[in-house]
Amino acid sequence: MHDRRPALIARCLTAADVSASVRYAGTAGLPVTVRGGGHNVAGTAVADDALMIDLSLMRAVTVEPDTEVAEAEGGCLLADVDAATTPHGLACPAGVVSHTGLAGLALGGGYGWLARKWGLTCDHILAAEVVLADGTIVQTSSEEKPELLWGLRGGGGNFGIVTRFRLRLRRVATVHHQVGVYPIAEAARALAEYRSFAENQPADMHAVGCMKIAGTQDWIPSFLRGKPALFLTTVWLGAPEHGSHAASGLFSKAVPAGSLSRQLTYAELQALGDHGEPHGNRYFTKSCYLEDISPEAAAAFLLAVQDVKSPLSSIDFEYLRGEITGVPDAESAFPRREAPYIYTASAQWTNPAHDAENIAWTRRSVQVLESWHFGGAYVNYVQNEPAAKVREVYREDRYRKLVALKSRYDPANVLRSNQNIVPTRAE
Ligand SMILES: Cc1cc2nc3c(=O)[nH]c(=O)nc-3n(C[C@H](O)[C@H](O)[C@H](O)COP(=O)(O)OP(=O)(O)OC[C@H]3O[C@@H](n4cnc5c(N)ncnc54)[C@H](O)[C@@H]3O)c2cc1C
Repeated sequence: MHDRRPALIARCLTAADVSASVRYAGTAGLPVTVRGGGHNVAGTAVADDALMIDLSLMRAVTVEPDTEVAEAEGGCLLADVDAATTPHGLACPAGVVSHTGLAGLALGGGYGWLARKWGLTCDHILAAEVVLADGTIVQTSSEEKPELLWGLRGGGGNFGIVTRFRLRLRRVATVHHQVGVYPIAEAARALAEYRSFAENQPADMHAVGCMKIAGTQDWIPSFLRGKPALFLTTVWLGAPEHGSHAASGLFSKAVPAGSLSRQLTYAELQALGDHGEPHGNRYFTKSCYLEDISPEAAAAFLLAVQDVKSPLSSIDFEYLRGEITGVPDAESAFPRREAPYIYTASAQWTNPAHDAENIAWTRRSVQVLESWHFGGAYVNYVQNEPAAKVREVYREDRYRKLVALKSRYDPANVLRSNQNIVPTRAE
């Protein structure tokens, strides 16, 4: 989708390399892009005729088990962090596909299985080593340049290039995981049960939903295979032997046509999404926050999935809240913590000739929910849209604070291939 040709790719190994690269770009008059895991849906890591600062060789992670802290380099994938932390029974809350980049995800927020219990990935950034837009290497923490740390927690890649994160870890070992599948004809009732279960679930429970064309796994009844279907999933982070009972609050009321129930290690849970999002396919994603999944909103979901243009596409939704809202607003740039639901339409297909119809389906699937939009959007799912969209994401007060920070740390807007905060001088 993002077939672009940089002028140069700097494959950095150290913060000093990153610093030299930014300085060189300034002298040579080249625009800069930064590549972490290369997953951003807007393709901001790569631009024609620019200098790409590629961090994919900087993936070392060290764990301090006693203090439950990890140090992770700026090019890590989530899998790199999981591989280092899980042997100690520890994890940093992060996203649900393990080949996503830590940096882009964490700097924009970071939703995942552990967020309701412990907050977003950005809430776990304790400190960072950052190469600023002029090449200076600085440290930030709650004691040193705390305003920069605030901006890194949700403000995206606007304020500097993070070469090392210091991350707070949480204790997680085995989880209980259950999935149920429903035919579309029964989905409206199941969605109503999901809504009442999810809005009352304890912090140890995370229940999510997905609508897509059902696959051919053994546990999926044959009459549903290849048809649009609703999938509801619960992940229980409490004692795994209590997981079935905890999930029965949902599955005994919305009885699925087929189901799968098992215990997984945290690393296995994290890798569950990997095979469904392979490299090389074509992707387009749009997302919004929703106020509610009323019966009318649920009906709109169901029409959207029945109109899907590719068997690889999906509509995902989940009830958020929990500890996401428990983190004081002043501690991070991340906006709209109180959003109840996030809803994401993700088109995936293989033939470039089908780009237009898949992109149109994605846009339509979010537009039809307009009456239930909560406002704003998750910045990591914002496509290349007008600057006004980024302003709307953060809301006016927070956006102004971010502009002040950007004007201080990157007044010339060197780091602009992102969901951009425009500094005052460049406005
Ligand atoms: C398959 C898939 C699954 C996803 N799942 C989730 C999920 O479960 N939860 C969730 O919250 N999000 C999820 N996302 C969205 C994800 O958070 C964003 O796409 C994020 O930008 C990916 O980070 P990256 O480092 O891979 O991105 P890249 O494309 O490498 O970088 C994107 C931008 O991040 C900035 N950046 C990257 N590295 C650095 C750095 N070291 N320092 C400063 N800036 C940097 C730059 O501005 C860059 O343009 C998913 C995306 C995909 C494609």
